[in-house]
Amino acid sequence: MDDSQEQQDRHFMELALSLAETAAAKGQTPFGAVVVNRDGKLLGEGYNSVRADRDPTAHGEIVAIRAAWRAVGAWQMLGGCALYSSCEPCLLCSFVITQIGFSRVVFAARGSDVPTYRPLLGADLAVAAAWVNSQPDWPPLEVVPDFMRERALQIITAFPWAQASTRTRVESTR
Ligand SMILES: [Zn+2]
Repeated sequence: MDDSQEQQDRHFMELALSLAETAAAKGQTPFGAVVVNRDGKLLGEGYNSVRADRDPTAHGEIVAIRAAWRAVGAWQMLGGCALYSSCEPCLLCSFVITQIGFSRVVFAARGSDVPTYRPLLGADLAVAAAWVNSQPDWPPLEVVPDFMRERALQIITAFPWAQASTRTRVESTR
């Protein structure tokens, strides 16, 4: 990884982590993500809003991808983009990431760092990407794990997980 790439990765991961903090401040689980194009331009950002929007698919990554798609107008423009996420994308998000053809995903915390971690098929992005990269007809996906993981762990540790399953009031994002 060269210096400018590292600098860009730090910049956008800072943003994804601050979005995770925003989610937590609003009573949502602490996950944030941003979408960045090949030129290093920010296209969309998002944080978990599942409860606020009563939308089970509103994971931080999906919210960021929706925002990016709406910003560029066509999903084909998202092919080859990079996604930065405060935590390893789950299978739901991995499906969308690989269908759209993102070329790079950088994540901070591991899924198993999350107290409520319960991965479908025991898999998440690392497993999905390994499968994708073994297929001849899927665009390759580079995965950069554990990037600024310590910061993400602080945010995850500070979150009141025990209350997360019982609380009902959350601030709507719309
Ligand atoms: Zn997800």
